[in-house]
Parts: sequence; C-alpha cells; structure tokens
Amino acid sequence: MLRLPPTRWTRPPSLDAAVAALGEPGARALAGGTDLVVALKNRTGRPQCLVSLADACPAGIDTGGGGWAIGAATTLWDLERWTAPPSVAAIPEAARSVAAPPIRSRATVGGNLCLDTRCVFYNQSAFWRSGRPPCRKAGGEVCHAVPGGDRCHAVFSADLPPALAAVGARVRVAGPDGERRKDVADLYTGQGLAPLALAAAEVVLSADVPALSGRSGSAFEKIRARRGLDFAAASAAVWVEAGDDGACRSARVVLGAVDSGPVRVARAEEALQGSLLEPEALETAADAARRAARPVKNADFTPAYRRKVVGVAVKRAASRAWQRAVGAREASS
Ligand SMILES: Cc1cc2nc3c(=O)[nH]c(=O)nc-3n(C[C@H](O)[C@H](O)[C@H](O)COP(=O)(O)OP(=O)(O)OC[C@H]3O[C@@H](n4cnc5c(N)ncnc54)[C@H](O)[C@@H]3O)c2cc1C
Ligand code: SF4
Repeated sequence: MLRLPPTRWTRPPSLDAAVAALGEPGARALAGGTDLVVALKNRTGRPQCLVSLADACPAGIDTGGGGWAIGAATTLWDLERWTAPPSVAAIPEAARSVAAPPIRSRATVGGNLCLDTRCVFYNQSAFWRSGRPPCRKAGGEVCHAVPGGDRCHAVFSADLPPALAAVGARVRVAGPDGERRKDVADLYTGQGLAPLALAAAEVVLSADVPALSGRSGSAFEKIRARRGLDFAAASAAVWVEAGDDGACRSARVVLGAVDSGPVRVARAEEALQGSLLEPEALETAADAARRAARPVKNADFTPAYRRKVVGVAVKRAASRAWQRAVGAREASS
C-alpha cells in the first residue's frame, strides 16, 4: 500500500486568501485531488503545503454573460449531466469520458484543465522508479522514453481541454496581479516538464464558452483500452459550422494525448471547410491529424498505434459534430 507523505493542508476561506497562500514557497493548489493525491503517494510531487480551492473557485454553469461560464470547482459528474446545445455537446461528452464515476464525482474542471503531463516512466511508485536514474521530469538529466532527447515528452492526456479549445473557450485566471482571460489553447506550453502557462499562485476560476452559431455542432471522441477507466491512447474534438449552401463553413480540430499539449490541426480544418464531410474530406482531415501527432514510446500503446487511431478519432468526432450541425440547422429553418 502506498501511503501519503506528511503534508500540511489549509483551506482558505476566499479566493484572495487562496492566492496569498499559494504565494508561499512549496504551496500547491488542491481541487478534487484525484490526480494530485496519486502524485503525492508516488512521491512525484512533494509540495510543502496543499491549498484547498474548495472555497476559492466557483462551481456550476453560469449562463449570465451570453455564453456559459463553467466554474473551476464544477465536478465532472455535474458537467456530464449538462444538456448542452449541439454547438458545445463536445464538453459533456469529454467530461463523461474521464476515468470512472467515483473519480468524476470528485474530479473538477479546474483540475482537469491543470492536469500534469503523464509518462509510463514517471507515473509510477518511487520504488518502481528507483530502478533507473531519475528522468528530466523527476529532476534528472535523462529521458527513458527518448534516449538522447533534449526535452521531456510526457503526454498531455486531459480530456476536457481539447473539447474546450475546439469550441473556442477562454479561461479566467486569478493571481496576485488580478484577473486575466486567455484562450484555452494558450494555457499550455506544449512542454512535458512544465505544461501549464500559469504564473506562480495563479488559479483557474472558470472556462468561459462563447455563444456559438445555431448551425454548428461539436463532438469529442476518445480511443482507450477500457471505456470505463483509462486515459486516452488518442483523442480528438471537432467543432463545425454549416453555411447557407449546406457545406461546412468553418471548423476547428484539436487533438489530445498525442503530444505534451493539445494540438490544433489547421490542415484538418482546411480539409473539412467547404466540404460536406464526405469520406474523402474526412480521410484528408484524418491524414493531417496523423501527421500532426507526435507520440513517442511513453504510453501503454505504441506510437504507430496512437498515430493511427488519432485519425479514427478525428473521423468519428467530425462525423458526429457534422450530424449535430446539420440537425441544428434543419431545426432552426
Ligand atoms: C484511475 C484514474 C483514471 C483517470 N483517468 C482520466 C482520464 O481518462 N482523463 C482525464 O482527463 N483525467 C483522468 N484522470 C485524472 C484526474 O482524475 C482528472 O484529470 C481530474 O479532472 C483532475 O481534477 P481534480 O479536481 O481531481 O484535480 P487535482 O488532482 O486536485 O489537481 C490536479 C492538478 O491541477 C491543479 N489545480 C487544480 N485545480 C486548479 C485550479 N483551479 N487552478 C490552478 N491549478 C489547479 C493542482 O495543483 C494539480 O496540479 C484519472 C485519474 C485516475 C486516478
Ligand atoms: S518523457 Fe522522458 S523525461 Fe519526460 S517523464 Fe517520460 S521519461 Fe521522463
């Protein structure tokens, strides 16, 4: 049995107090704890103090501003029950695909957006890892996945970020210098070692989803070994909008779990735009996704398999998103 190391814990009563507490050396934000507590047990994270965000971040979906502001403390269990319109249906779909119901009942939107990158050589117990020299992510100077490589290639496997990026969401972030907003895509550095573009003591408050065209649809597709639990071998989120002529007017395609951050694929989007998402267009988009993916040997599946199935994920997500867009267009005319 893996035991938690002794760690201080505090639950600040407000956002300001949480930001101040996170400014202390060695402090780390704690939301649902479904990933961070595992990291503590594996000794891959050794914060001196855990700062609970339970009273700092909003929970629930606020419809006040025209779109939807999804509070960082919203559980994935609640998010998957959201009866979202076709344009943003990818969001509850992605929430539903995370882990299993007991985990989703604690796991939060903020924790999913800020999930650390993963690697089969890193997400192991300290005993398992002790058989090799520490890798870059563990503070060493080697990479076991890409020997001789000059960076960490740990994989960004969170499911919500590709879906939120595909629908054009922004995140609201609070820190010592106040609040700011940035595109979901800009929350990520693409680096395995430090995947988040967040300054010290910054907290994600919400994911703000814009009101989208009533002729659009989105979908999230995840390929994994066991539907009920596993992280993705590869995933894809697609948003498409139908134009007046019935063809696809605009598209966004974002991949997950095939690099150290979500990957937007402009060539896949170009393949869908102007098409009726017929098999040739879908195959061209899938091919662009396979080329954009950069899997290495650090997950349960081979890079070749992950590259292959990311194309499958794009085709499935794009087809489902298109059905939703066309259905929404017909319903509104
Ligand atoms: C068996 C198992 C299977 C899993 N499968 C999946 C899966 O398929 N897909 C998937 O995406 N995830 C999976 N997870 C990981 C995890 O459960 C989810 O990503 C979850 O959403 C994390 O949220 P949390 O609230 O528990 O985050 P925590 O574990 O509390 O925190 C995660 C990270 O986010 C930071 N953080 C949390 N909230 C904020 C905030 N508001 N602002 C800034 N930083 C913050 C924390 O400091 C920490 O670094 C799995 C976990 C387990 C144990
Ligand atoms: S990709 Fe390399 S450096 Fe990064 S966690 Fe894996 S083994 Fe370590």
